[in-house]
Order: sequence, then C-alpha cells, then structure tokens
Amino acid sequence: MEFQSELLRLVKGEILVDEPLNRHTSFAIGGPADFFVRPKTEQEMVAVLNLARTHGLPLMVIGRGTNLLVEDGGVRGVVLDLSKCCCRLEEWSGGVVVGAGVSVTELLDHCRRWEWAGLEFMAGIPGSVGGGIRVNAGAWDRSIGQFVRAVSGYDLSGQAVTLQSPQLHFQYRSVHLPGDLIITEVKLALTSQPSQIIQKRMEKFRRRRSHQPAGQRSAGCIFKNPPGTAAGKLIEESGCKGMQVNGAQVSAEHANFIINIGGATAADVKQLIEKVRRRVEDQFEVELQMEILVIGEE
Ligand SMILES: Cc1cc2nc3c(=O)[nH]c(=O)nc-3n(C[C@H](O)[C@H](O)[C@H](O)COP(=O)(O)OP(=O)(O)OC[C@H]3O[C@@H](n4cnc5c(N)ncnc54)[C@H](O)[C@@H]3O)c2cc1C
Repeated sequence: MEFQSELLRLVKGEILVDEPLNRHTSFAIGGPADFFVRPKTEQEMVAVLNLARTHGLPLMVIGRGTNLLVEDGGVRGVVLDLSKCCCRLEEWSGGVVVGAGVSVTELLDHCRRWEWAGLEFMAGIPGSVGGGIRVNAGAWDRSIGQFVRAVSGYDLSGQAVTLQSPQLHFQYRSVHLPGDLIITEVKLALTSQPSQIIQKRMEKFRRRRSHQPAGQRSAGCIFKNPPGTAAGKLIEESGCKGMQVNGAQVSAEHANFIINIGGATAADVKQLIEKVRRRVEDQFEVELQMEILVIGEE
C-alpha cells in the first residue's frame, strides 16, 4: 500500500493495479501484473525503478507483448511499459536514433521518409524497438542487431548505461546485455537510399509473410529454427498442423505458429508446445528450442 501511494505521488503517467496482461500481449493470454506502469517521462521511469528497488519489488519491461507467453498466474511486482516515455525519433549523420518505446512500424515509416535504408526486412514484424533489440528480431537471415551502433538504458540500480556495438554480442534471437538492462534508446547505423526503393523492398518483405496467420492471436514463431532447417518444416512433417489443446492450436497456415482460437490459457499453450516438441524429437531426433519467452507465475 505504501508502495502504491508513493507510486501515485511520483508518476503522472498511467498506473494500473492487478492489470490483466492478456490485454497487453498479442496472444491475448496472461494473468495480472501487480502494477502495470506507463511512465510519461524517462525521469518518471527511473523514479519507478528506484522505488521498486527500495521496496524489494521485482520489475520488468514489456514492449508490445508480441514475443511473450505470460503465465496464467501473472507477474509479481512492476511491469513497465515505455511506449509513452521513450519515444525519441531523430536522425544523426549516419542513420537514426530511436526510443525503445517506439513501434517498429513507426521506425520503418520514418526510415522510409528520411531515406535511411537497411531495416526493410523488419517490415511486418510487430513490436517495439526495445523488444526488437532484446530478442534481436529479424527475418530472412538478417536481424536488427547488425545495424546497432549503441544501446542506452538503465540498470536495475538506476544507473545510466551506454554500450557501444563492440560490447554488444548479438546472436540468433538474443543479445548479450548486462542482466536486466532497461533499454531506453538505440543508435542505428543505416545507408542513405531513395525512399521509393526502400518502399518497394518493404513491400517485397511484407508479401513474403503471406503464409503467416494474419490477424490471429499468436506470438510469432514458437520455436527457433534448428541449424540447417526450419522448425515449421519439421513440425509440419511430423503431422502437428491443426493439433489442439483446448483453445490453443497449431496454425494450419504456418506450423511454427500457435494461435489462440478462443479462451486459450498459458497452460494450454505450454501443453501443446510439449506435445509438438515430443513429436518432432521422436521423428527427427531434433530438440526444438523456444523462441517465445515465458514469463510470470504458473
Ligand atoms: C504475427 C507475428 C509475426 C512475428 N514475426 C517475427 C519475425 O519475423 N521475426 C522475429 O524476430 N520476431 C517475430 N515476431 C515476434 C515479435 O514480434 C518480435 O520478437 C518483437 O521484436 C518483440 O517485440 P515486443 O516489443 O513485442 O517485445 P515483448 O514481446 O514485449 O518483449 C520481448 C522481450 O523483450 C524485453 N523488452 C521489451 N522492451 C524492453 C526494453 N525497453 N528494455 C529491455 N527489455 C525489453 C521483454 O522484457 C521481453 O523479455 C512475430 C510476432 C508476431 C505476433
């Protein structure tokens, strides 16, 4: 209670108590966050960080929740949403500086208008810039990490940190960042090109996504691609398409997607994931690794 009243005093942005996270994930699944906070400024964000630490409460950041499976028991402590406080979008002489709370769609729109090329392969990947960096989002053998010059943020002690590209080790769907760094801003190195060319390339990459279940409740690909093959191919060939646990179903369009066809819980999705994993392992002796992140309490 003391925490809540101090939070109310410090934050002009939105504070939601026991906020169901199914409202904040593309899967539309997830139990409540004790405190869901959307600060208005970076200073407010740091104040929340410090307050949570002094009260011994866990804190995590959520982007647009498009790569997450939130457990049915929800998330204890504070969930921070930076979409209203880390919104900078500016050019520098070699590309763009962008806030972690900006959506990838908005970033790409500005890149096109400002004639900065490189990120077109991201067209169609939902989510925020912060989330994209944290998971090194990408497609077609490219990923956002290749374009990162520097990442700024705060550690959980409230200390500002800036890391230059040699200190960042981007790998397939991951990056080595000091534990729990809250990313606030990213400097991207891009190439100057006419906007019509950029636009055409974005359209081409967007078209390549026509085999994905559009407009369905999902979290993108469930599994990482194992070396030399596609997870979706193995799942399809092991006959899992359409497999279902209650409201969770392996997509008939793209076997590496699980969709929430109505009322699915995190437990349903996890059960389905295990079924798929076992089938693929039995048939191909390949152990699939998860691409989506599971957070919260069962
Ligand atoms: C239809 C669909 C298609 C998709 N296609 C692709 C694809 O082609 N390629 C691909 O890579 N992904 C894809 N995804 C998955 C997802 O969109 C990306 O991984 C995206 O980059 C996640 O961003 P987010 O903002 O939603 O992050 P979230 O899912 O909200 O969070 C992901 C992780 O990032 C952390 N995080 C978020 N913001 C910050 C921050 N500011 N500081 C520190 N940590 C932070 C969170 O704590 C969490 O650990 C797809 C998803 C969907 C639904």
